Amino acid sequence: MKSIAQLDPQSAAALVDCLKNAEIKSETKVATDDVGLEVADVLVADEDYDRACDAAEKWDAAMQAEQEKKSARKCDQCGSKKLEVIPHETLEQVIRCKDCGTMMPLQ
Ligand SMILES: [Zn+2]
Repeated sequence: MKSIAQLDPQSAAALVDCLKNAEIKSETKVATDDVGLEVADVLVADEDYDRACDAAEKWDAAMQAEQEKKSARKCDQCGSKKLEVIPHETLEQVIRCKDCGTMMPLQ
């Protein structure tokens, strides 16, 4: 097995799904790094490595496009683009404006 990416467990699961769609078998190995963050290694068979890398690159590009779409969003209150996604008690996640503190649903 070869590692094609090290990601947070959530992203790793999304990548594994994407690889599954491309009919590439993969598995993840979760480890905890020096600062206590969980890091998932996405592993594929040696013979699938090149194909998996291609698929992972495409997946990564799609994720970044998604991220950019999100970052085009502005604060409802002050129009700031400095928004962060934070966990929330009742909603799963909310977007919080770093400038004025307004919370907005993650649509
Ligand atoms: Zn704001």
